[in-house]
Amino acid sequence: MEKIAFLGLGNMGGPMAANLVEAGFAVSAFDPSEPALAQAAENGCERADSARQAVQGARAVVSMLPHGDAVKGLYLGARGLLQVLEPETLVIDCSTIAANDARQLIAAAGERGIRAIDAPVSGGTAAAAAGSLSFMCGGAADAVESARPVLAAMGANTFHAGPAGAGQVAKICNNMLLAVHMIGTAEALQLGVDNGLDPKVLSDIMKASSGGNWSLEKYNPYPGVMDGVPASRDYSGGFTVALMLKDLGLAMDTAAGSASSTPLGALAKNLYQLHGGCEKNRQRDFSSIQNMFRRPAGE
Ligand code: NAD
Repeated sequence: MEKIAFLGLGNMGGPMAANLVEAGFAVSAFDPSEPALAQAAENGCERADSARQAVQGARAVVSMLPHGDAVKGLYLGARGLLQVLEPETLVIDCSTIAANDARQLIAAAGERGIRAIDAPVSGGTAAAAAGSLSFMCGGAADAVESARPVLAAMGANTFHAGPAGAGQVAKICNNMLLAVHMIGTAEALQLGVDNGLDPKVLSDIMKASSGGNWSLEKYNPYPGVMDGVPASRDYSGGFTVALMLKDLGLAMDTAAGSASSTPLGALAKNLYQLHGGCEKNRQRDFSSIQNMFRRPAGE
């Protein structure tokens, strides 16, 4: 059985590692969080006491960490994993991090003869559990090809976006657009409701018209319009405002680096910052931006 090391068993990494086990890989897993590690063991992963122990004898290493500093801390430097990985190992970092951090990791790996790609995901926790994530890969074509069987066990789509860091660029372009159409959808729905329309009827009309978009059709932000989405469970679960803010920050940094104009992205980041001003909202699903437009009852 082929051995894969999985590092970072949080909301996304936990179910992704479980799907690798399901697909027949031997998964050696590590996370500093004991509950996350215990859950992974229950899902059939082999517990490791450290990242170094997890990668021993692994053909590939998959990481799913919260931010770029965690990724750099794990792989780079004198105590980093790149010091101990075998040259044939394939590193697949699925975390959402700055494209420049991904490029730094991939270059440092290359210097030691280790192949590495950035492979951030779209789809969220439900897709991670269902094994239907989309992977956006950056790196050498042969490394992306080698990663395909591993990624296919966790997702439905694997795209090769371009060279090192290109997966991260694709990811933040997508999420910047997602933020913009989510806010636009919330604003339009509220305008209709404030003028006497039923949000469900308005949604049906816009879905069949030129305003149709993913936020409206698959993730409607207005409570009660759609079953099974965060809006219908007080915006719990899903993709938090905090994570959206992280991705919009990465998008704005990237735009500054390339001197690109992203006025709607900048406005979206500002609105999410305003909305996420209190911790309660930061932990709510990002479709809760609808609440910014809703009038308090009785007004
Ligand atoms: P999370 O905070 O639930 O999980 C991160 C895990 O990494 C934690 O369990 C933490 O203990 C562990 N960790 C930290 N440092 C580690 C190390 N050195 N070695 C091993 N484990 C370590 O976060 P998440 O929601 O699973 O998100 C992970 C990544 O996926 C982020 O980069 C996020 O932006 C991205 N992402 C998340 C979603 C989502 O809906 N949650 C969707 C798409 C992408």
